[in-house]
Amino acid sequence: MIETNYEKIFAKIANIDPIKYGKTRNFLWGNVSQLSPYVARGVISTKEIANSLIERGFKVYQIERLLQQLTWRDYFQRTAQRFPDLSNQNVKNDPHHFKSTGISTALLQADTGIDALDEGIEHLYETGWIHNHMRMYLSMLHTNIARCDWRSGARWMYYHLLDADMASNDLSWQWVCGANSHKQYVANQENINKYSGSKQVRTFLDVEYEAFSGMTIPDILRETEALKMTPTSASVLELRETDSILFPEEIQVNDTKSVLLYSWNNLDPKWRREETHRRILLLDSEEFERRPISLRTLEFVLALSKNIGGIEIVFGTFKDLQEKLPDHSFIYKEHPTQLGWTGTEDSRDWIFPEVSQYTSSFFGYWKKCEKYLKQF
Ligand SMILES: Cc1cc2nc3c(=O)[nH]c(=O)nc-3n(C[C@H](O)[C@H](O)[C@H](O)COP(=O)(O)OP(=O)(O)OC[C@H]3O[C@@H](n4cnc5c(N)ncnc54)[C@H](O)[C@@H]3O)c2cc1C
Repeated sequence: MIETNYEKIFAKIANIDPIKYGKTRNFLWGNVSQLSPYVARGVISTKEIANSLIERGFKVYQIERLLQQLTWRDYFQRTAQRFPDLSNQNVKNDPHHFKSTGISTALLQADTGIDALDEGIEHLYETGWIHNHMRMYLSMLHTNIARCDWRSGARWMYYHLLDADMASNDLSWQWVCGANSHKQYVANQENINKYSGSKQVRTFLDVEYEAFSGMTIPDILRETEALKMTPTSASVLELRETDSILFPEEIQVNDTKSVLLYSWNNLDPKWRREETHRRILLLDSEEFERRPISLRTLEFVLALSKNIGGIEIVFGTFKDLQEKLPDHSFIYKEHPTQLGWTGTEDSRDWIFPEVSQYTSSFFGYWKKCEKYLKQF
């Protein structure tokens, strides 16, 4: 099981080797941080990682690759503030090459015939985490080779990821299929062999890049099916037997009228730590209906919440909570998925809080951020 103790998680930041990272990050065996599950769950922030690198004495040019990747995350979050419906809405273009709204059975069964990718799918199922390059490969296989709509692929991967994040996930899927970019991303077998260390030849991807535009859907990917996922509410019922997850009607009313409202995107143990409030983690049932998550991810969320003393866990909607606690005030951290939440909204941490407006390209955003690099 992945680490969930806050002190041990925080200590991982100091182990990052940004120099090796810059040289190896694209390889599946590369020196990446694997901190995304904690960043996505709001336990640590991109800002804290960036600050720690500077405090360790690295110069900006030595950490630029990592700083840029961290900034990709912030960029996607800013984009999600601008397009909160991006799980349904194409951000830049409407792709016209999809033939199915389902998902290839071979992909679901890790039986695509591309060994490195099948291993990647198995790894996702076993651990809930895969490398960025593997995510790109699987996404391109689904959207641009099997020609299935990005939405079914995005929901499939998101369901399994411990770091599931609407902005990073759906915008990356859109980028791969050309909905959030101007061309489709493809990788051939040679590229996959280079970055995964595999040596496979004579597969349907063992072609020159020119061959992709006229490629028909490979036979092995043709059979598709509708994506089926266990509803998160069923996982809640299962975990309720051992973890104390309340339904709104079970909440006790007490004298503390101010509530710090945590979400699965904000499990930051340092947030307003010295203050006295009632602390409630709201597992937003509407959000999980829109975008279901796996039992393992839910268990991960519950384990992380244990770092927050006295936290109560509730499965329901914000409206349910308001109805149950009508004379209470709510304080929460801003997040674009928290539709209809009202009260005092704290900002999240940003590496470059000054650059808050939506920019249509990452490099446009990065250029604006570069001005503030001097402050580091
Ligand atoms: C199809 C697809 C789906 C993705 N889905 C998600 C998702 O649901 N949740 C998620 O957190 N990331 C997602 N990513 C982005 C990226 O793959 C992961 O954040 C990264 O692989 C996490 O590994 P790491 O922590 O070792 O990253 P590192 O390379 O060590 O980078 C450090 C941190 O920077 C951020 N980061 C790095 N690369 C990216 C990137 N390309 N985009 C956004 N943030 C980045 C992450 O917070 C990461 O923890 C997706 C990428 C693709 C291509």
